Amino acid sequence: MPMQPPKRTLKVGLVGAGLGGLAASIALARAGCAVTVLEAAAELGEIGAGIQMTPNVSRLLMKWGVDAIIGDDLVQCKEINMRRQDGTVVRRTELVPHTVREFGFPWWVVHRHHLHQGLAEGARRHGVEILVDSRVERIEYASSPVRVRTVKGGEFEFDLLIGSDGLKSVVRRTLFPDVKPRAPTNNGAYRAVLPYDEVYSKVPEAREFGNSIDVWSLKKGYVITYPISAGREWNAVLSHYREQPVTDVDEEVDMQELREYYKDVDPRLKKIIDLIPSSKRWPLLITGPLWSWSSPQKNVVLMGDAAHSMVNHMAQGAATSMEDGAFLGRVLGEVVHGVLTVEKAIDIYEKTRMPRAWIKQQASFVEGSIYMLDDIRGRARDQSSAASVAQTSAQAEVAGLQSKPRVSGPDANARSWDLWGAPETVQSIFSYDAEGDADHAVLTHLQAKTPYDSVTGVSQGLEEKWTGGYLPREQVGRIAKSRGMKL
Ligand SMILES: Cc1cc2nc3c(=O)[nH]c(=O)nc-3n(C[C@H](O)[C@H](O)[C@H](O)COP(=O)(O)OP(=O)(O)OC[C@H]3O[C@@H](n4cnc5c(N)ncnc54)[C@H](O)[C@@H]3O)c2cc1C
Repeated sequence: MPMQPPKRTLKVGLVGAGLGGLAASIALARAGCAVTVLEAAAELGEIGAGIQMTPNVSRLLMKWGVDAIIGDDLVQCKEINMRRQDGTVVRRTELVPHTVREFGFPWWVVHRHHLHQGLAEGARRHGVEILVDSRVERIEYASSPVRVRTVKGGEFEFDLLIGSDGLKSVVRRTLFPDVKPRAPTNNGAYRAVLPYDEVYSKVPEAREFGNSIDVWSLKKGYVITYPISAGREWNAVLSHYREQPVTDVDEEVDMQELREYYKDVDPRLKKIIDLIPSSKRWPLLITGPLWSWSSPQKNVVLMGDAAHSMVNHMAQGAATSMEDGAFLGRVLGEVVHGVLTVEKAIDIYEKTRMPRAWIKQQASFVEGSIYMLDDIRGRARDQSSAASVAQTSAQAEVAGLQSKPRVSGPDANARSWDLWGAPETVQSIFSYDAEGDADHAVLTHLQAKTPYDSVTGVSQGLEEKWTGGYLPREQVGRIAKSRGMKL
């Protein structure tokens, strides 16, 4: 498709080069914006742990070419096994080929460092300017352009400033000083990464887990493990309960206490946990729901954890941040092409994305409470999913390939207690297309706000958006005008 020349330049600044900020920078650059990312850290990077990239965002990595940059370090696991504390499997999801085929996109697990590097390289290839050692401390937004000052004295001006600066966001503190992320439960999460060479040599039975995502459900916690780094490293998130809410990262974890907490789990897992030399404890904080994500002038706006951090049980925090970025790319592309004003684009972004993030915040919370259950409710949960375990992987696959005509796509009637591991239960999350959603929101706005032809129903706004790029000005809007309507 030939590109239409932009009608205006749009200078966009992003505060924060985390996973969300970098994803947004790619989407915005692709939309024709001039993008600068200001990052506080002296070097680009991410914490040393794994992360899941579910189909709603693996589709974006593929579209942006970031999957090709990361290569084999994006790991596709064969299945998800939900287990009781003793290791008994109570639910099984066949990711390959079943889920990947039905959702159309991979379910990747990846080291955050590899994902971050891939996004940063993708951003550079799209012409994004990334400035490290640039901690933003002051933002003036009473009039446009927005003025930004860094701690080191750097000064910048932008048509739009986006706060992708995470939980402790200076952009959010500037707009909404009273909003504070909070811990909705007393749960925290340890993280750990070990080389598989060590795991397999010291715990040979760990090979039984193979290339899978495994989750052990405890009464007051759970453990999730999966391979990262092209299968070279074992990654674990260990959820646990504390007497007090966890509100900050605890850098010095008592390893004896960690091992004691998981002493009764599946002996194979316990042996691996005992190899972990050190760890940190992470808080699980939620932000919002906020009544607004933007300044009154709509020239400063929040995204990602800065706007809507969520507990981690659906693996959707970074994914939602990246979706925000993809959505912003689409609506701001309409500004670049003269279809929308910045104010309207941000208004559409907030109205569409705020409810999406809110649903994910709630689903994440519910999923966590389902993982950590007492005996009675846990048994009811496990019995309801017994059928998924009774079918061996081979049976499930053969059944899917029978000669009867096959209806493709996720089962419309699927219901499972496992909102995360049975993604067909929440298709609005795992099948979500942020760019398509943005496009639809723009079209709906244009259809509603502009006059339309009473015979065809074609609105002036839609006709202008679709034909204004190539028709001479006086020819635009002729379908509606040909009906003699006064537009
Ligand atoms: C245990 C655990 C497991 C998780 N697992 C998953 C998962 O599997 N999948 C998933 O999608 N999500 C997961 N998440 C959530 C995910 O980590 C976050 O939601 C995500 O990292 C948020 O991205 P972000 O870009 O919005 O913010 P951040 O990653 O916090 O990035 C913010 C960036 O802004 C920079 N910054 C901050 N202040 C300033 C300033 N003043 N000036 C300039 N720069 C600044 C920071 O240095 C940082 O680089 C998990 C979270 C936890 C705790």
